[in-house]
Amino acid sequence: MSTVLVIGAGGVSSVCVHKMAFNADIFTSIHLASRTKSKCDAIAASVKERAGQDVSTYEIDAEEVPAMVNLIRKVQPSLVVNLALPYQDLPIMDACLEAGVHYLDTANYEPKDEAKFEYKWQWAYHDRFKEAGLMALLGSGFDPGVTSVFTMWFKKHKLKTIRQLDILDCNGGDHGQAFATNFNPEINIREVTAPARHWENGEWVETPAMQVMTEFDFDAVGPKNAYMMYHEELESLTKFNPEIERARFWMTFGDEYIKHLTVLQNVGMTGIDPIKYQGREIIPLQFLAAVLPKPETLGETTTGNTNIGCIATGEALDGSGEKTFYINNICSHEAAFEETGNQGVSYTTGVPAMIGSAMMLSGTWIGDGVFNMEEFDPDPFMDMLNQHGLPWQVKELDGPVEF
Ligand code: NDP
Repeated sequence: MSTVLVIGAGGVSSVCVHKMAFNADIFTSIHLASRTKSKCDAIAASVKERAGQDVSTYEIDAEEVPAMVNLIRKVQPSLVVNLALPYQDLPIMDACLEAGVHYLDTANYEPKDEAKFEYKWQWAYHDRFKEAGLMALLGSGFDPGVTSVFTMWFKKHKLKTIRQLDILDCNGGDHGQAFATNFNPEINIREVTAPARHWENGEWVETPAMQVMTEFDFDAVGPKNAYMMYHEELESLTKFNPEIERARFWMTFGDEYIKHLTVLQNVGMTGIDPIKYQGREIIPLQFLAAVLPKPETLGETTTGNTNIGCIATGEALDGSGEKTFYINNICSHEAAFEETGNQGVSYTTGVPAMIGSAMMLSGTWIGDGVFNMEEFDPDPFMDMLNQHGLPWQVKELDGPVEF
């Protein structure tokens, strides 16, 4: 018997709640709260139709800690699953501490006035969660999330140490729009326009955004331009695998996306500092996000596959010298839509959020304090990926990557 309270009602939440309802033996009672209750109701209606399960819905501003505490006390969940925006991470963690309940999210805290992705704010909660006998699991999406678990699977089954790690995130989907982001536009554009950063020989190396590019031939997608950028799992992966000499993150973008983004940046539409407009303050990026297509509306028209994975080079566990392995998942946008009514990027994040929740509720992953995905046994999580729509494959490559 497990009661869960999910916060946020976007594409990721929709997938996660559907998947929870399909696994009613683990998630016996599902509650969904967000800023706009009608979005929760729409998800609940779809879940009823597809899975025959009831989802209770509520309106909440998750930044209002006392209101969150009241809601948690009313629902009495075993776990709060935060699928709202990174800005809400800390208030929701505060509410969980006050109400005495476990916590999970998919993206690290980011202050609204600074595009800075760092775990330091959430790691600072470790002692308080530990003293309260509670667990917080950070970053249980795909990247971060599955990419962290993939890397630890290498460490358990293939490589004694990792010398080089490259995470490759390819969305080969076509949504038929001139410009749209496939998860929250504000968070996506903040991430993409931030300077690139990678780990090399014990320090962070910064390069301007979208400057370092390589072409990579992705299975089930084909050749794509992948751009080096910063991604939050680089921080936790290099913390928990201190032997890594070089760790980089790459994401594919089409020429049309880059063209639109460049123009929007050049005219100041991606700025996060407030400007005065007709007597009131607005933030250009928030205005832009309001006029862009909503990610949860892209599912119906999106075709093609995502292909996300990790390439690691290091000393083989079996003593056979240096080896390079590539592990990845391929996800079909059409299949994701067919199953849950959402496109593949929401699917690849929502499914791992459900699996991380299952790991915690079943006691398979257990601990007091704040944890990253790297700190637990990857095998049960990897088994559930295979069973719940995100199967993975691994192959040995001839040698280290040459880009
Ligand atoms: P959406 O923008 O589609 O959904 C976010 C939801 O949060 C909306 O329903 C929104 O409400 C709600 N929300 C925003 N502010 C508040 C608030 N103050 N109180 C309550 N609810 C609020 O985002 P996605 O579904 O695309 O993404 C969800 C999360 O997943 C994000 O944190 C994103 O960074 C993360 N993510 C992680 C990935 C990974 O692989 N680890 C990949 C992709 C996303 P409203 O409808 O009113 O706006």
